[in-house]
Amino acid sequence: MTLRLADPVTELPGVGPKLASRLGDGLGIRTVHDLLTHYPRRFQDAGDVLDLSEVAEGQPATLIGEVLDWSTRRTTTKGKGRRLDIAEARVRQASGAVFSATFFNQNWRANQLGPGTVAAFSGKVKRFRSDLQLASPDVQRLGRVSAGLDAASAADRLRHQRLLAVYPAVDGLPSFKLAELVEAALDALPRLPDWLPEDLLDRQDLIDLDAAVRGIHLPPDPATRDAARRRLVFDELLSLQLGLQWRRARLEADTLGLDNAPVDRGRAQAFLDALPFPPTGAQIRAFDGIGQDLARLRPMHRLLQGDVGSGKTVVAVWAMLNAVDRRRQAALMVPTEVLADQHYRTLTQLLAPLGVNLLDGIRVELLTSSSTTTQRRRILGELLSGDVDLVVGTHALLEEGVRFADLGVIVIDEQHRFGVSQRVQLKDKAVEAAAVGAKGGDGGPAVLPDVLVMTATPIPRSLALTLYGDLDVTVLDELPPGREPITTQLITPDQAHRRDALYGFIREEAAAGRGAYVVCPFVEESKALPGTAAVEEHKRLSTEVFPDLDVELVHGRMGSDAKDTAMARFRSGDAQVLVSTTVIEVGVDVPHATVMVIEDAERFGISQLHQLRGRVGRGGGRSFCVLFAGWNAELTDDAKERLEAIAGSTDGFELAETDLRIRGAGQLFGQKQSGLPDLRIADLTEDLEVVGVTRDLARDVVASDPDLRSPDHATLRAEVLARYEGGLDAFAALETG
Ligand code: ADP
Ligand code: MG
Repeated sequence: MTLRLADPVTELPGVGPKLASRLGDGLGIRTVHDLLTHYPRRFQDAGDVLDLSEVAEGQPATLIGEVLDWSTRRTTTKGKGRRLDIAEARVRQASGAVFSATFFNQNWRANQLGPGTVAAFSGKVKRFRSDLQLASPDVQRLGRVSAGLDAASAADRLRHQRLLAVYPAVDGLPSFKLAELVEAALDALPRLPDWLPEDLLDRQDLIDLDAAVRGIHLPPDPATRDAARRRLVFDELLSLQLGLQWRRARLEADTLGLDNAPVDRGRAQAFLDALPFPPTGAQIRAFDGIGQDLARLRPMHRLLQGDVGSGKTVVAVWAMLNAVDRRRQAALMVPTEVLADQHYRTLTQLLAPLGVNLLDGIRVELLTSSSTTTQRRRILGELLSGDVDLVVGTHALLEEGVRFADLGVIVIDEQHRFGVSQRVQLKDKAVEAAAVGAKGGDGGPAVLPDVLVMTATPIPRSLALTLYGDLDVTVLDELPPGREPITTQLITPDQAHRRDALYGFIREEAAAGRGAYVVCPFVEESKALPGTAAVEEHKRLSTEVFPDLDVELVHGRMGSDAKDTAMARFRSGDAQVLVSTTVIEVGVDVPHATVMVIEDAERFGISQLHQLRGRVGRGGGRSFCVLFAGWNAELTDDAKERLEAIAGSTDGFELAETDLRIRGAGQLFGQKQSGLPDLRIADLTEDLEVVGVTRDLARDVVASDPDLRSPDHATLRAEVLARYEGGLDAFAALETG
């Protein structure tokens, strides 16, 4: 009987129910396929496999042999030195030569490598008394004599196999055990059929699948391993991109879009004409790209990426006014109330030249969970009747009972802060809105509004292409002119005097009409988490440090009236210092604020720090960001790396790349949150080029064959379906509109 990839691991020799459940529970390995996609974490170079007779003292070597026995002893110490446990194994090679391997404070080795174990020991050989000895060698367990392995055949095999795969392991399932199973599986498997056509492999210079699967686990040399990895990365990314594009094609097959094409002499144009500044080149490019999407009779799915301060709001307003020009409505949805308030304010200011909430002007409303019942009832009525043109809101916009007369454009700001379920709800809302607008005929395709998703968290290109493989991306890669540079400084507790200097500086800035933010990680003090709390810091700053200034406080647990008042006092300049939590992280725009102080900065991630810093340098003069770090918690290496990255760069894209490198893609967005399928071998920081190649390839395939029905694509179709169990629903989370 031949083994198949879909077989359970119990089909492998020596795998009983107990081992099978350890594989399943510990590593999620249930089938042979799971086992073979449990890729090596790294490779250990076995060096030259030698017999003792060939070894020169002081030379690095790998010696293979069978463990005969163990002895342990403990050093006697003089003075205060610590005592050492020494465990020593005697190991016999195939030639009969015996050497010893010693381990310090690792008595567990005697259990790992009991008598009868065959293992490879790598290190430098030393002569100790008359013995040859390896001190603290790297060890790779190869198997047991009782299982039919002997030192001679093991050495033989390793001579051809310099690179030993080291697998991610768990308790009770060491790497060598996994290696044994993988090898058994590869022995029993027939040649694996390829799902990619040969001409593609030729064109992309890829090795075939069978060679790749064998080569990643048992590479004879580094070149083979690298070629194997390249092929498997290609497969992983291609099937992901195919899945995304295929899904997109399917969605589009069932939907129609609206014609929201810009009109001559409309309000969108009037809005641009009335702006107090000329749009940047990047903004103009965004108008072009979005304008084309709006005109198409397919729903727009566009991601607008732009660093803090790049001017996304203007682009959003322009996009929404195109709906108004077509006598439709538009909605702007944001993640926080503070941001909703501010966007509402900005919108009404920006639209003032066109007339806002006047007879014949543009009707703009704000809907959040702190809208009163009366307000809410009125706004809901006017959304349904079509009287309201633009609505700004939080996820209150998603609540039951919110219905539009005819929703043309939806803009979602900072979309990654919304959960998956909210994104799905938003899409349902869109469908519902279209239905209420009676645009879709009975049984006909749904008519969906155009969706623009904005984010100020620059996403590295590789991640954007992967996460948003089905979205078009516009990047605002140019800041408006006249931006003030921001100087960033890190202050650790050994420089305590600089804290006083900073407070002196804030006082000077305040005297000159400028403002400072002080951001704290916590609202209130707690015993569990040591750190600066906004409430206490506000008290300390207002009574002890700046008794002569007006110091306000904003945090998420305050009532919205109190929050509004505090924000308004800071915005108007009546208050010079604003102590807050990260509620001010996104979008808050107070141009005369020039100092951003972040307490316990080590608690924040790179993108958060970058966002917070983006609150200053918005036109009020030379700006400063001061990061206090290590005052309440020890600085880890990761934290240091993050803080140094922030201090060293103000380029959001560069920082995002660094963040991706430090944290890995899954964590950057949160696996669940992003819906990013688990990548087993591809690394988005390393494999950027392959992301691009596979995306283009997938696009071409799906463009020519939207449902992958052609016989030429049968294996592609099968592979995508097999990889993403549950079919394309695996991609549901990726959907944004
Ligand atoms: P973000 O992309 O962070 O949302 P905003 O839309 O809040 O940026 O814009 C930041 C600031 O830059 C705002 O005060 C806005 O009025 C201003 N701004 C936008 N576009 C331009 C431009 N083309 N020239 C000058 N200032 C601009
Ligand atoms: Mg913004």
